[in-house]
Amino acid sequence: MNIAPVIIIGSGLAGLSAARQLSIHGVEVLVLEAADCVGGRVRTDIVDGVHMDHGFQLYNTAYPEGKRVLDYQALDLHPFSAGVISATDHGRVKLGDPRELLGWLPSSVTSGSLSAKAAFVRYALAQARKSPAEITHSVDGSAHSTLERAGVTGKFYSEVIQPFFAGVFLEPNLVTSSRFMNLVLLTFVKGKPSLPRNGMQAIPDQLFDALPTETVRFNAKVSGVSTDSVRVGSEVINARAVVVATDSTSAHELSGVDAPAWNSVTTWYHLAPLGTLDEGKPVIIVNGGAAGPITNSVVLTNAVPGYAPGAQLISTSALGIHERSLDLARPLSTMHDTDASKWELVGHYPISQALPAMTPPHVFRSPAEREGIFLAGDYRTSSSIQGAMVSGRRAADAVLANISGQGTPHV
Ligand SMILES: Cc1cc2nc3c(=O)[nH]c(=O)nc-3n(C[C@H](O)[C@H](O)[C@H](O)COP(=O)(O)OP(=O)(O)OC[C@H]3O[C@@H](n4cnc5c(N)ncnc54)[C@H](O)[C@@H]3O)c2cc1C
Repeated sequence: MNIAPVIIIGSGLAGLSAARQLSIHGVEVLVLEAADCVGGRVRTDIVDGVHMDHGFQLYNTAYPEGKRVLDYQALDLHPFSAGVISATDHGRVKLGDPRELLGWLPSSVTSGSLSAKAAFVRYALAQARKSPAEITHSVDGSAHSTLERAGVTGKFYSEVIQPFFAGVFLEPNLVTSSRFMNLVLLTFVKGKPSLPRNGMQAIPDQLFDALPTETVRFNAKVSGVSTDSVRVGSEVINARAVVVATDSTSAHELSGVDAPAWNSVTTWYHLAPLGTLDEGKPVIIVNGGAAGPITNSVVLTNAVPGYAPGAQLISTSALGIHERSLDLARPLSTMHDTDASKWELVGHYPISQALPAMTPPHVFRSPAEREGIFLAGDYRTSSSIQGAMVSGRRAADAVLANISGQGTPHV
């Protein structure tokens, strides 16, 4: 008798990670994907050799799940520098780890109050000494109030820390869970935020390439699920088990599971002639008050020259949804300390469903099964590549336990 495959809905990082885990345990899997390629929110368009990720994203080498599963050498990860530049109304302020950016030390020392900076360094290093489990089980509050209590206040907060974390959480008020902020700090201290040589989509592509052929069926939008079948158009496909590994909104529509609100962002890509913007360093420039609606801007080719051969590629993001035609010449000139008026706009990505909001108290282990249907996706764990990947493995482990008759483990 033929056994039906386990059906996974969605081929983002969560769905691909679930498929990987089930496949290596010898379970036949069919992934149904509404789009025409894998990756979900982690995709890269390559237009005339210019690599444009769907929004500014970085992979951190300290992500535990990625370390287990991904081949870093094949991804050829290019790290960012351990520093930021803040564009303030009193000029550009550079802050960097002196071990890496020694020349920036004078600027680092004179920006913001020394006590706020010392408080932040103390706070970040304290998180780095903790285990991820300690952090996810600690008392939770908003990132903003937690930093304030730790003494991270004044100009150092408003010109550096607030715009930096606004770009990570994709919300301006830092109402995001401090547990999540602490995990971000841990990964920043222990790892390097990086870009793969061929763009962020190299990450899902690597997981996809390792799956048995014909595991993923594209252009297959699932419109209904039960515990042992799914519907695609007029076709009903039998399943040994069903894993809904979609974004949270689609998961809500398919299974009724609660979906958090979305944080949104718009990213523009510009090309500038070859040169040395930002001293040729791959650093994030944050808006410390002098750059209008922009949250951050980065010369991506300072990290990976191949992102735009023969030019400099600049990624610029603003929270919320904005028009392609928004006038960015002045804020970009301020941020990069140059004349940006002639830069060529080559890409515009308004992403309304970018990150599921993580309000405190944030739970990092939402159940991987609900009424006989298995659930994966970043919204089950944390809004990150690490979160998506680990949610996929957990859902797959729950399926494995279920089909081996052990019942759903407490995952
Ligand atoms: C702009 C931006 C910046 C980010 N920055 C970072 C960062 O710097 N670092 C970091 O770690 N994380 C970052 N993230 C978060 C990270 O990209 C996501 O958390 C992760 O990719 C989510 O993966 P997922 O598999 O859970 O969901 P998704 O990627 O959304 O995948 C869901 C898949 O399900 C498919 N699907 C939906 N409905 C159906 C249906 N009915 N039938 C079939 N298929 C369906 C979709 O087409 C999609 O392929 C960022 C995200 C964005 C958008």
